[in-house]
Amino acid sequence: MGQIRVSKWARPEYQTHQAFLLEAQRLSQTGSWKHDLASGLVTFTPEVARIFAFDPTLNAVPAQFFFERIHPEDREAEAANYGRAISTKSDLRSEYRICLPDGSIKHVYNTGHPEMTDEGEIAGYVGTAMDVTEQSQATAKLESALGEIRHLTERLKAENLALGEREHELNLIVETIPGLIWCAAPAGEVTYVNRQVLEYCGASRESFTANGWADFLHPDDLAVTLSLWARAVEREEPHEMQYRVRRFDGEYRWFQVVGHPARNPQGQVIRWYGLLIDIHDRKCAEETMRQAEGRLARATQLAAVGELSASIAHEVNQPLAAVVANAHAALRWLSAEPPNIARAVEAAERILRDGKEASAIVQRIRSLFGRGSVEKVSVEINSVIAEVLTVLQTETMRKGVRIETMLADDLPTLEGDRVQLQQLVLNLALNGIEAMDGILSRPKTLTVSSARSDAGVVVSVEDCGAGLPEGDKMFESFFTTKPEGMGMGLAISSSIAEAHGGKLWAEPGQTYGAVFRFVLPVKP
Ligand code: ADP
Repeated sequence: MGQIRVSKWARPEYQTHQAFLLEAQRLSQTGSWKHDLASGLVTFTPEVARIFAFDPTLNAVPAQFFFERIHPEDREAEAANYGRAISTKSDLRSEYRICLPDGSIKHVYNTGHPEMTDEGEIAGYVGTAMDVTEQSQATAKLESALGEIRHLTERLKAENLALGEREHELNLIVETIPGLIWCAAPAGEVTYVNRQVLEYCGASRESFTANGWADFLHPDDLAVTLSLWARAVEREEPHEMQYRVRRFDGEYRWFQVVGHPARNPQGQVIRWYGLLIDIHDRKCAEETMRQAEGRLARATQLAAVGELSASIAHEVNQPLAAVVANAHAALRWLSAEPPNIARAVEAAERILRDGKEASAIVQRIRSLFGRGSVEKVSVEINSVIAEVLTVLQTETMRKGVRIETMLADDLPTLEGDRVQLQQLVLNLALNGIEAMDGILSRPKTLTVSSARSDAGVVVSVEDCGAGLPEGDKMFESFFTTKPEGMGMGLAISSSIAEAHGGKLWAEPGQTYGAVFRFVLPVKP
């Protein structure tokens, strides 16, 4: 049986050391104890009494008291732990919670070392009990903070992953969409183009963003495009235009280009987004069709004019030949010695007769364009206008012309030749559209209106083109200011209006361009 050497601490030489030791124990919240297995008593220092909330005057209690203090959930494990240490004669090391009489809970870290008798039997344990409540709480807090951090990290990771996936997906769309996409800064400099743009132009991303589109535009489209783009940027408005862009192999292709400003919540433009769609094949097909239509119309016109001139020549030639022959005869009779005045007068009278005949032929030909050839049926002029505008749709779209109509809905029905009236409106509309070719500084608008007037029904076709030419020859046949013009349109149109008992005239437009009006009488 081992001796418990408590008495040693009572010796005077240990008094000072003991005081230091107790102070150290208080500061480190660590007390020491000794458990004598034979008596079942545990002797301890004041710090142990404080930790376990024993009466401070006590320095020894039965071991049972300690076990009673242990938290019910930890008690059994600790008893087993202690029992195992005793049976294996080994060191003790454990941590458990204790419940104090005031209801508070403390964490204790307990260590013990077996004390052996000379016979090698276990006499008891000497150990330390440390109040680790604060550390435990700090550790718990730390662990909960760590848990929170781990949770946040996981969430962040998941969000980043989702964000990354979305970004990747958007990127994929932008990079694979069959269109050329660009972004520009609010002031208009290109900041991004997608892969398709680079592949199409055969340019590097750096070179592209440094010089923008300018290097790749068709020289004929450059000035107009840049000025339209500058205007869109200045007005901060969406824009739509068509221009040719050079492909990597040098071929220029037509693109339909739309640009839209993106705005922040305050309404300021923060970026421009744009899309180029290849319309080259469609445009070429349209152009071929238009040329074919043009050639056909021209061939028809030429054929009609050719036919007309042949019959005019034929009809007029006979009286003219007679006029010439009679003029020669008159000259001969006058220059004879002496002059035969009577014969000369006869010849002159024949000249007069043939001259009148020629004039009558010309009159007849004019009447071909006039009243005589009109086949009259009931016609609603608004539906004639609508039919013409439908026919013109491709032409107006191709030329970027906007059509506005102001049609009165209470118009009376007219008597007339539907096809001729269509031709009349078509001529005026085509002239108006052609007059706006080359206008860039304002929107191209053609306004077609119909209205009731005292004289009947008035139709007006107004453009905002270059304006009327000088002089009053416009309505004469073969007067034209166009390189490829025939100069027949207004002459025929005028004849059609007159053949319907009406008339056609022109006035300068309100601000720009010209207005052509015709009035057709209404049957009483
Ligand atoms: P063409 O169109 O073949 O020249 P037209 O008889 O239709 O023949 O027109 C004769 C001329 O009248 C044109 O060349 C043009 O100078 C002038 N003209 C016709 N319509 C307009 C218009 N809307 N604006 C300005 N000038 C016009």
